[in-house]
Amino acid sequence: MLPTGHLAATYILVRAGSAISQPLSLSETILVLASGAILDLDLLGSIFLKKPHHSLLTHTPLAIFLVWTTLVLVFGPDLSLTAKILILAALLLHLFLDQLVDWEVQKKWSGLEQAAKINWLYPFKTVRAPLQEKPLIFDPSFYLDYPKKLKFSVCLETTLILIAVFLFFK
Ligand SMILES: [Zn+2]
Repeated sequence: MLPTGHLAATYILVRAGSAISQPLSLSETILVLASGAILDLDLLGSIFLKKPHHSLLTHTPLAIFLVWTTLVLVFGPDLSLTAKILILAALLLHLFLDQLVDWEVQKKWSGLEQAAKINWLYPFKTVRAPLQEKPLIFDPSFYLDYPKKLKFSVCLETTLILIAVFLFFK
């Protein structure tokens, strides 16, 4: 999923969390939104490592635990319990939404042969990714193929963005 979809999903999460518990402050909202997209900063690392970023160690539950612990240690005293829970939920939601791409490919709903695997069990088990000579973000065919081949992901992403925009203006 693209960062726009992650941001939209995280915004829906923020609104749901605020409705169930206490409303977040503006700074907490920004931090939760950033948490929902922060894992994709490894796109830069994937260029140098020549591997799909979903297969990097930065897209693992262990990385999520480390990011969440760091954020709570740094911002902890200023964060409500709701914000701490939503930051963790946003990080986990990111990984789950990325996993959907792999499921879409496995179910043969897409036009792709394979998708990079997320290493859910790292460090106990690692699925090695093939080398990616041309980084996806610099590959024009990726942007053309994405809407054509990953139709489920695009529909889901579009739905999430529409719901997030509706909630924002509601
Ligand atoms: Zn991601």
